[in-house]
Amino acid sequence: MIIDVHGHYTTAPKALEEWRNRQIAGIKDPSVMPKVSELKISDDELRESIESNQLKKMKERGSDLTVFSPRASFMAHHIGDFQVSSTWAGICNELCYRVSQLFPDNFIGVAMLPQSPGVDPKTCIPELEKCIKEYGFVGINLNPDPSGGHWTSPPLSDRHWYPIYEKMVELDIPAMIHVSTSCNACFHTTGAHYLNADTTAFMQCLTSDLFKDFPTLKFLIPHGGGAVPYHWGRFRGLAQEMKKPLLKDHLLNNIFFDTCVYHQPGIDLLTGVIPIDNILFASEMIGAVRGIDPETGFYYDDTKRYIEAAKLTPEQRHQIYEGNARRVFPRLDAALKAQGK
Ligand SMILES: [Zn+2]
Repeated sequence: MIIDVHGHYTTAPKALEEWRNRQIAGIKDPSVMPKVSELKISDDELRESIESNQLKKMKERGSDLTVFSPRASFMAHHIGDFQVSSTWAGICNELCYRVSQLFPDNFIGVAMLPQSPGVDPKTCIPELEKCIKEYGFVGINLNPDPSGGHWTSPPLSDRHWYPIYEKMVELDIPAMIHVSTSCNACFHTTGAHYLNADTTAFMQCLTSDLFKDFPTLKFLIPHGGGAVPYHWGRFRGLAQEMKKPLLKDHLLNNIFFDTCVYHQPGIDLLTGVIPIDNILFASEMIGAVRGIDPETGFYYDDTKRYIEAAKLTPEQRHQIYEGNARRVFPRLDAALKAQGK
């Protein structure tokens, strides 16, 4: 079985974006603020948006199940206040839930949280609990920078975030550390801000003793871990200078990386540097990089090709495709077992 742990609903019907634009307009002029009930998307529209896009590509490329969350760049936690984020997260999560109900063999949900800059993260817990307990979601996306590129929140190791971690441990769910749109002109959203955040999150964990407080907490760092695998020697050396344990003991029981690296040398480096137990298959399809690589003739985000071509044993490939995902997402494993898989 091939599980893609990183997919977003980037192809939602246009009505969603139109509703969001009205909501954003309503921040300045409450008289135009739309009601949730004004967003109408039928099951047929949802089916169509998935069947001709994600599901088609999954079948073509040979993946079976996508761990599916709302469009990351649209989370835009910096827009409006907690109420705006809360309403928006509720809508986006419900759509992913409906997709998971329409295609139970192919999609399972991960929640976006109603984060808002300067607001206590514990305000996210009701939405989080609803998604896990009522929708059967198996994880969350946690934005370490709800300000959208200005980094006004404390680091992930700060007690500020502990209410979320306590709930994650209680519910046995991992978090993908995933920022959203950058509203800082210095950082391109998917080309800089995302990769900066991946690297930053790792370093915040490295300099802290977060996992002493939460030995079972699990973070999935997407986009191949940003710059982390490439600079593994630097991180090992810094940890050594700080008298931290070896990284494999200090971080690798808790931190995992996905395979959203869009060329073969990148995947070869990832699988050569990071232990195979810490690598989970993902493509982030349909996402930031949608084109065809003229050097190979294949889509950049067809990451399965790179895993197939990497120097791995069949057992290692199985770990990356399925085994590690079932271990990192215990609720995913339980849901699959309940389906007889
Ligand atoms: Zn993503």
